[in-house]
Order: sequence, then C-alpha cells, then structure tokens
Amino acid sequence: MTSLAEQFQLQQQYRHFINGLWQDGGDGHIDVVNPAREEVIARVPAGGAAEIDAAVRAARAQFAGGAWSRLSGPERGALILKLADLVERDAAIIARLDALCIGRPMHEPAMLDLPNALATLRHNAGWADKIEGRTIPNPGYFGRPTVTYTRREAIGVIGAIVPWNTPFMITCWKLAPALATGCTIVIKPAEETPLSALHLAALVAEAGFPPGVVNVVTGRGAVAGAALCVHPGVDKISFTGSPVVGAEIMRAAGPLFKRVALELGGKSPQVVFADADLERAIQGCAMGLFFNQGQVCAAGTRLLVQRPIYEQFVAGLRQAADNVKVGDPLEEGVSMGAVAKRSQYDSIARYIQAGCDEGATLVTGGAVEGGKGWFIRPTLFANARNDMRIAREEIFGPVGTIIAFDTDEEALALANDSKYGLGATIWTRDITRAHTMAAAIEAGAVGINGWAPMDARVPWGGVKSSGLGRELGYSGIEACTEEKVITVVL
Ligand code: NAD
Repeated sequence: MTSLAEQFQLQQQYRHFINGLWQDGGDGHIDVVNPAREEVIARVPAGGAAEIDAAVRAARAQFAGGAWSRLSGPERGALILKLADLVERDAAIIARLDALCIGRPMHEPAMLDLPNALATLRHNAGWADKIEGRTIPNPGYFGRPTVTYTRREAIGVIGAIVPWNTPFMITCWKLAPALATGCTIVIKPAEETPLSALHLAALVAEAGFPPGVVNVVTGRGAVAGAALCVHPGVDKISFTGSPVVGAEIMRAAGPLFKRVALELGGKSPQVVFADADLERAIQGCAMGLFFNQGQVCAAGTRLLVQRPIYEQFVAGLRQAADNVKVGDPLEEGVSMGAVAKRSQYDSIARYIQAGCDEGATLVTGGAVEGGKGWFIRPTLFANARNDMRIAREEIFGPVGTIIAFDTDEEALALANDSKYGLGATIWTRDITRAHTMAAAIEAGAVGINGWAPMDARVPWGGVKSSGLGRELGYSGIEACTEEKVITVVL
C-alpha cells in the first residue's frame, strides 16, 4: 500500500525557516503522524533555544532598521496581498497538509480554514495604509496652547505560538496583523501540525518579504515555545492553546513585561429555549458541538435546554449525532475523522467514563476501540448537572452534555457558572429575551439563532479563563501596536 507521504508527495525531512533560509538544528526530530492511520508522514526538527535565538535576532534586525522597517504601509499591504494570492494558488495543498496532520476530512479546511485565512490576510493588507493616530484637544500647558497627537507604532517582534486544531487559520490570524502593522514574527507551530506553517514560509519567500520578517521554528512547546517566551528580543507573545500553558506563558513573560495575548479554551453554552425553531437549533447545536471532531475552542459543549422541549431536543440531537459517519477521512462519505493524537483520545475516553460514573445518561457515542486510528463517535450525555466534570472541564472532543432548565434566570445562572467565557449561542424567537441574555452572558462572542462568525473583520477572544486580548478586525491591529502620545507646547 502506498504511504500517505508518497501519495501526497510530502518531503521526508522538513527544516526550520530562519532568516529566509531553510536550516536544520535542534535536538533530534519530531515525527508528524496522521491520526486516522497512525502513520508517520513527515519529520521536522525539534528546535531549541539556539534556533529560537537565531530566528528572533533575524526578526529583530528587520524590525529595527532593516529593509522591512523602511517599507511604507502601502508597500507592506502590497506584499501581504501577494502572499494572499500565493496562499490562494496553493489552497488545496495547504488544506491537505492540515487535514493529514489533524486527521480531519480534507473538504473542511478547504471550505473553512483556507477561505478564513485568505480573508484575514486580505483584510489586514487593507489596514496596512490606514493605521492612524488621533489628535486630542487639551487645556494647554502653563497658559500656552498645546497640540497633542498620537501615533500607533508597531510593537516589535511577535512570538506566535499556535495549536494543532486549526493550524493554518490561526497562524494567519497572528501573522496578518503583525505584517500589516510593521512587526516581525517568529512562529512556533504545534508539534502535531507544523507542515502548513512551513509551506507558508516558502510562500513568504516567494512573495519577496525581506529575510527575517517571518521565521518558522518547529519544536516542542516546553523547549522551543518556552525559549520564545523568555527571549529578551521578543516584545509580545501571541498564544493560542490550553489554559494550563497559557498560565505558564504569563508566568514566564510577566517578569520581562512582555505583552501577552492568550486565546484559550472554553466550555461554551448553547441555550435552547422552548420557543426556538427546534429543527434549526438542533442542526446549529450539532454543528457547534461536532465540527472538527469537537476540537474547537468555542465548541458548544454545554447544551442548556428548557424542560418542555428537553426530550424532543435530546432525540433530535441524537439523530444528528448518529447520522455522522466516523472513519478514515480519505474514505468516501466520511464526515468525521480521528482526534488529533493518542493522548487526546485517551483523555476524551476518560471523560466519557467520568460522565457515566457521575450518573449522567450516555445517550449515544463513545470511543471506538481496536484497529488503527484514534476515533471517537459523536457522544451525548443527557440528564446531566452543571457540577459534573463533563460540564465543567474542557474535553476538546465530540462530547456534549445536555442539562435541563426551567426559567430564564436559571439558564443565565447555568450559562455563567463556568470558569470559561469564550462563546455562547442562544436559540429563541423572543427578541427581548435574546438580547437580554446576550448582554448578560459572560463570553467573548454570542450568537443568536446561529454561531457568531469567526471572521476576518470581527474581533475574537474570550473572558475569564478563556483568555486575554482580541484578534482579528481592527482589534487585531490595535493588539500589534502601542499608542504613543506626542504633545507640542506652542
Ligand atoms: P497546548 O497549550 O498544549 O499547545 C499549544 C501550543 O503551545 C503548541 O504549539 C505547543 O507546542 C505550545 N506549548 C506547549 N507548552 C508550552 C510551553 N511551556 N511554553 C510555550 N509554548 C508551549 O494546547 P493544544 O493541546 O495544542 O490545544 C488545545 C487547546 O487550545 C484547547 O484548550 C483549546 O481550547 C485551545 N484553543 C483555543 C483557541 C482559541 O481561539 N481560543 C483556538 C484553538 C485552540
């Protein structure tokens, strides 16, 4: 049987992209594994402090006085647009690389991640010549009039640490505003999914960015990622990943006063009222729960359902879950692939056991045992309570916990009784209830009768343990700049 590496013409051994050159280096290598077949598809170097140091120095040199620092906004914008055109040209290749590393069906990144990444690059290219300051009227200085104005200045070198669930899209969320504002960047992709970032690096070179503006160092989080967080040449860490690592990054970066942006996990509620369009709510909740094998930070894994429609909702969602065909994403008709790694599979299986042990009713699903590949069937628990582990902890798999409520007040209390606050959906036909709930729910993004878009123009981020700061839209531009105040005493 042909290997996946041969079938998809992958390189045997990839390299870091540092200062515009492909370089080896580090402590051995990391195997990249396809989770549906448990097959090694490529190897990347396990970079460490030395490779991070070389990449940061290259990025610093371009930021502080290099050719990049002398480009105007329109010139930066034009380069980003050129990069976007190359990403569009290679979209199918990039989608395939992500799908192979994550174990998901190829049409998903092609339909969602790549269009989103492209839109993010082009949206930010448009900002590159529109980064403006303000003039601020003020009462003067010792009787003399003053003019006060501000400048938005690029923060500097950004260390971008990316997770494995939607790798190319999240890489572009960090890269595009960095380039638009004139920052430079060192990207540390996740161990499981480094290939699309390395392909992006090749496109950066082809687009003609000065060497060192964009660097990609592959390696383990605790080694290469940790080295990036404490490097004195890095001005900001932009991290997407787990809350545990997010806390470690704050501890590491804090004493150095680095800016930190954290996009972390969630346990997002989907609140379904009895007056909702039930069919639409069930379809929407299923999508919010099972998309990308449930490995989505904003996955709507706590389903809060009003009692009069509870049984009907559970039956409908079960039907939607049972309609999902789980298997090797390269096979015809498969709509859900494997979860990304063995440790993830084991952890999800333990949560499913915990749900059963705590007394929730397993309606459908469970881990697929035996054979190759780390597969979990869409799983639902009914008759659950919000104090159970399956309702409190982020499972990061296709597992939904369905909890009944009676009143609006109870729904709101349950929705907010979580350490997380990333996303939420509300399903109702009552406009007053919808807006009242949307204002009161503690979350970064709320969707009413549908999912809040993850869109290039719309800010994204969480509250509470779901993170700090915002990406995308103009908020993403602000996050890559500092506001300097200049006052002229006339
Ligand atoms: P993770 O935190 O283990 O890894 C994320 C990245 O951090 C990887 O590149 C990893 O190598 C690196 N890393 C690990 N330890 C590090 C350290 N000590 N110092 C620096 N870097 C380190 O998370 P994961 O398992 O890859 O991703 C799953 C988590 O990410 C989930 O909690 C999920 O909710 C969250 N996530 C959030 C968003 C969002 O937008 N909020 C998006 C995707 C994923």
